[in-house]
Amino acid sequence: MSDTKRLTSAFGAPVAEDQHSLTAGPRGPVLMQDVHLLEKLGHFDRERIPERVVHAKGAGAYGYFEVTADVTMYTRAALFSEVGKKTDVFVRFSTVGGEKGSADAERDPRGFAVKFYTEEGNYDLAGNNTPVFFIRDPLKFPDFIHTQKRNPRTNLKDPDMFWDFLSLTPESVHQVTVLFSDRGTPATYRHMNGYSSHSYVWTNAAGEQFYVQYHFKTDQGIRNLTAAEADELKASDPDHATRDLFEAIERGDSPSWTLEMQIMPVAEAEAYRFDVLDITKVWPHADYPPIVVGKLVLDRNPENYFAEVEQSAFNPSSFVPGIGPSADKMLQGRLFSYHDTHLHRLGANYHLIPVNSPKHAHEASYQRDAAMRTDGNGGGGPNYWPNSFGAPEPDASVAEPGVALAGPTGRTPYPHENDDFVQPRALFRDVMTDEDRDHLIGNIVGHLSGAQERIRLRQCAIFYKVDPEYGTRVAEGVGVDVAEVARLAAMTDDERATATSR
Ligand code: NDP
Repeated sequence: MSDTKRLTSAFGAPVAEDQHSLTAGPRGPVLMQDVHLLEKLGHFDRERIPERVVHAKGAGAYGYFEVTADVTMYTRAALFSEVGKKTDVFVRFSTVGGEKGSADAERDPRGFAVKFYTEEGNYDLAGNNTPVFFIRDPLKFPDFIHTQKRNPRTNLKDPDMFWDFLSLTPESVHQVTVLFSDRGTPATYRHMNGYSSHSYVWTNAAGEQFYVQYHFKTDQGIRNLTAAEADELKASDPDHATRDLFEAIERGDSPSWTLEMQIMPVAEAEAYRFDVLDITKVWPHADYPPIVVGKLVLDRNPENYFAEVEQSAFNPSSFVPGIGPSADKMLQGRLFSYHDTHLHRLGANYHLIPVNSPKHAHEASYQRDAAMRTDGNGGGGPNYWPNSFGAPEPDASVAEPGVALAGPTGRTPYPHENDDFVQPRALFRDVMTDEDRDHLIGNIVGHLSGAQERIRLRQCAIFYKVDPEYGTRVAEGVGVDVAEVARLAAMTDDERATATSR
């Protein structure tokens, strides 16, 4: 038998038999010396790695990003250096709250994470299919996610937890309105947009800085599921979006997205009417029209799901020269949390897993050792800096210009909290069609009806503050008193919380 055809142990020794355990007589017991069985069971027992605490269910594919417009006046990132330039990418789409086996058609934001394998190292952009987020301070994130998951006693999804937190967190109502529109149940991963949601900082060769927002607009067109269609798919094909992406790419129907950027000189942000770094806000298109910058194409499926998709790890902290973080508080929290999660989930050397390692750049850090070091570990070279052995040294030419910071330390909110209702109001009144509004109300009523009356009242008051019609229609749908909703809407957040506490 040829070597490549022959079954072996994990250490390459030929295996003679793989159907019957080694026993003392045909009826057993099994012998401890069946080392092949021990190896096989021992590895099987360890097959599962921790699932992601959020974005556990996902699908991914390879492709490329192509620059279609000159943006070198805004960034010196090599990725954007010339029109026509192509950069390899890996993209992972996901749902957020559900477990690894949950249904793709659940109402949930969708993750839209892009890893650009640039010649200056990997650049990761871990965004969502929504331009905003529920909260704007990372201190609230673990609490928020707990409420979207399972009740600690019943282990069931719990409308009380879900709406209790959101109704006590009015900044969430913009994202809640997007989530409960039909955009909360995209038809497939191919038929939705991806947004950076955060503002990032681009720096050009002259050191000038710009705040930017990324919008990947689907070339397949936006398509959403109605609540009834989503319910049907959850039962009939829980993996429908995973299947759709794989099959489209397999048949050569490569999905693509047009990258549009909103770009704002950093100096302009100070004078803008709200804090442009607050992730619960969009930048109005009329003020900052998106400009077309490039195209993202996905044309190759992974060969192995676990190796390439389950082990893929995206870091909002993986930047390249010319692209950096803004002071957005949520982003600052994510700069820590993603890398930290991967260290826990995949180990200290997760950058050596092929899907995560730089493909077009040379890695030359002084990080050494740790579990599962699978390369040469820096060989005999120095493992410290500074050294005088000609080993890798920092390159001052890639330094980003500094950012001026001022102000006393303190646990303080953004200074414009009363703006939380302006943008969801524009979405509800001006952007949505009558049909969109009908679906929005129906989708909310279907979910909020499961919560206690005092929580229904409080959440309706938040919708009422967005628009009295919005609050009134939801209140009527969930059977609470509209006059009481209007009274709660007129209160401060603290008064409303007290008036509706148990
Ligand atoms: P515009 O009229 O210029 O933009 C409205 C945008 O809303 C559209 O371009 C589309 O964005 C998006 N949209 C359309 N239908 C829906 C829907 N059913 N659910 C969610 N989003 C939808 O106005 P403004 O820029 O002034 O924004 C008005 C409101 O639109 C905002 O308050 C925000 O709620 C929402 N919005 C704004 C975005 C922005 O970046 N300015 C992006 C998305 C939503 P797209 O083309 O990206 O699909």
